[in-house]
Amino acid sequence: MTVKEIFDTMEYGPAPESDKNAMEFLDKHRRSFGLYINGKWVSKKDTFPAVNPASGETLAQLAEASSEDVDAAVKAAQKALPEWVKAGGAERARYLYALARQVQKHSRLFAVLESLDNGKPIRETRDIDIPLVARHFYHHAGWAQLMDTELRDFKEIGVVGQIIPWNFPLLMLSWKIAPALAMGNTLVLKPAEQTSLTALLFAEICHNVGLPKGVVNIITGHGSVGAALANHPGIQKIAFTGSTEVGKIIRKDTAGSGKKLSLELGGKSPFIVFEDADLDSVVEGVVDAIWFNQGQVCCAGSRLLAQESIADRLYEKLKARLQKLVVGNPLDKGIDMGAVVSPEQLKTITSFVDKGKNEGSEVWQLENIPSGGCFFPPTLFLNVSPASVIVQEEIFGPVLVAMTFRSHQEAIKLANNTRYGLAASLWTENINLALDVTPKIKAGTVWINTTNVFDAASGFGGYRESGFGREGGLEGLMEYVKPRNEKAFAEKSFAFKVSGSTKTRGEALDRTPKMYIGGKQARPDSGYSLQVLNPAGQVAGEVGEGSRKDIRNAVEAAQAAGKWAENTGHARAQVIYYIAENLSARKKEFEERLTDACGYSAKEATLELSRSIDRIFTYAAYADKYDGRVHNTTSRNVTLAMNEPLGVLGIVCPEEFPLLGFVGTVIPAIAMGNNVVVIPSESAPLSATDFYQVLDTSDVPGGTVNIITGPKETLATELARHYDVEGIWYFGTQEGSKNVEVLSVDSMKRSWVNYGKHYDWLTNPLEKEFLRKACEVKNIWVPYGA
Ligand code: NAD
Repeated sequence: MTVKEIFDTMEYGPAPESDKNAMEFLDKHRRSFGLYINGKWVSKKDTFPAVNPASGETLAQLAEASSEDVDAAVKAAQKALPEWVKAGGAERARYLYALARQVQKHSRLFAVLESLDNGKPIRETRDIDIPLVARHFYHHAGWAQLMDTELRDFKEIGVVGQIIPWNFPLLMLSWKIAPALAMGNTLVLKPAEQTSLTALLFAEICHNVGLPKGVVNIITGHGSVGAALANHPGIQKIAFTGSTEVGKIIRKDTAGSGKKLSLELGGKSPFIVFEDADLDSVVEGVVDAIWFNQGQVCCAGSRLLAQESIADRLYEKLKARLQKLVVGNPLDKGIDMGAVVSPEQLKTITSFVDKGKNEGSEVWQLENIPSGGCFFPPTLFLNVSPASVIVQEEIFGPVLVAMTFRSHQEAIKLANNTRYGLAASLWTENINLALDVTPKIKAGTVWINTTNVFDAASGFGGYRESGFGREGGLEGLMEYVKPRNEKAFAEKSFAFKVSGSTKTRGEALDRTPKMYIGGKQARPDSGYSLQVLNPAGQVAGEVGEGSRKDIRNAVEAAQAAGKWAENTGHARAQVIYYIAENLSARKKEFEERLTDACGYSAKEATLELSRSIDRIFTYAAYADKYDGRVHNTTSRNVTLAMNEPLGVLGIVCPEEFPLLGFVGTVIPAIAMGNNVVVIPSESAPLSATDFYQVLDTSDVPGGTVNIITGPKETLATELARHYDVEGIWYFGTQEGSKNVEVLSVDSMKRSWVNYGKHYDWLTNPLEKEFLRKACEVKNIWVPYGA
């Protein structure tokens, strides 16, 4: 063949990587692996095969853990915990550095083993997965070193159960294990049954670096092993990455247990192309967004939204590029796509694509793919309808669906027309446009003119059915610590001991305060009111009996009042200072209310009121100061970690400290830009209903604070169930806490509950936690380079 002929045909030439090292590793273990518990390998009779999806070849036999094995692993982690904590951050950092170096040293073995086990191209495991794994351990070694200074108010959670999926096996392991160890936790991890081999090699490395036994335990097996781990009473935190379906099961099963939970779930992320984008870069971006890792990426840009004016041109370029992709042997360094993970996954993808074809969408697929093995062609559906199954469901395969938009507003609406909220990618040469659109997209990560870039220094995680919690960055570390001050929530109430001898003045009976919805006083839908008794059993006043309909009206008003979040922190602070000043001006009236309705002494009333005013000033001060960070990620990016409000937050106030419990929750929530629906103390709601007069005179926009009085648990149930409430805080009983956690599952709202314990409202030891719980972090990646 002449050089000219080579250039003319650009014939593809295979360049396979050797699997020799990986095969030697498997042979050394006689192609059979046990469980790694308490620093030892435990072999099992009950086994299942690890299969190479590209060839169908069985690579090894893996152990199926029993519930006794899960128990043994948790016990080992419990036993190892005190020493691991005592070792201190600096010593733990040494272990993490050692693990990072071992991953680098064995990177070739890891990369080949991962490709064999998962089917992903060696080019990706070699250049993306494994370097990121090492980076994770290095980065978190640094956090371990700095824990005592940077996180001095926090401590380890305890024993952590970690469950991971098959799409980035070792990378997901590192996202879980590195922060957990850095913060002093011990753990039990279960890899996905399809891809456990690199986790087992990692266990060997833990052993070789001399990690104390029981600190890391790796158990293999199917979903039931994950369920046994999640439900084990010896676990204090569960970190789960996987499907939304299983995430919901875990949330339900652990409700009321007090286990801390982070869920990284599925996605259907938009890839938005504006008309001024550089279309050639966009095409390569699409390749990385949906054909990287065979599209088995939770944050894959699987919905292409193209501005109408350039859509046809872009589609032509994409069709041409698609035909040039090479699907083949994962160990071949020249291929673009390998095999999908299993025959089951191949079936799922095929069935979605068949549905798309039956719906009549125009489809383009690469024709030339290997026969045998789990191969699926890169697929492009054009001009699909937004309601189509293939647009709404996560396919988790190399399938892109494309549709057009005309205006920016339409692009935002289409982007948010999904039950997920994991990531988004925006393409435009206009940075002002990009940064205007970014906050309006409900997604935990937004990439501008780039896609699918990750780093240990940046948080990653979702909204809505994509889950909650973040992994990576400082925000990810917070998932592995708890406040050092454990007395902030106590078994015993901090409330004043009131005598019950107070006499009511009786004037309150003359007026029944209404509820407060959309900035207006509102009668309860039921038309009924409830008597409020003081501790002496006398009637202190009446309030409206709120119901489901009132909650719905209040949520609607809160959703409609979106503008509050768009204000600057400075503007919000001005309004909140004004609230504090107006409350001060009505000091006497509120003090009387507290003595009348709650049986407080004058001194107690003065104390609760002055703390309330102080609390409002404090959170007003934070409104423009609790801001984000610019993360120091490895590529040429500015990675902006922005604290965003959750949206509409439901707040169920504590029974004690009726005024302080109200302002102590409502004010930090609105300081961060949320709109709230509040259920005040059921037994003493009158100081909260008086409060709307303060709001009315303080320039708080209608709908930002909505107050519904009535039966607390019934109203909390409605709030927890409501699909348009993004988060809920509940301060009440243990049973009520569990109820809120269970009911939050369907809408996957973030919940913060007190499990029947009592918070120290007077001293507010967790001042900043209220701000943190009122926000979620959005990471925005803006690459640079001329
Ligand atoms: P999956 O939920 O079926 O399995 C994930 C893990 O959970 C596996 O280890 C499995 O054995 C275990 N499991 C199954 N049933 C369980 C149960 N009842 N209790 C406890 N554990 C159980 O998900 P998958 O098919 O392996 O992974 C694909 C999904 O993961 C996709 O939806 C994808 O979007 C998601 N994912 C999300 C992220 C993220 O960071 N958000 C990252 C990767 C993958």
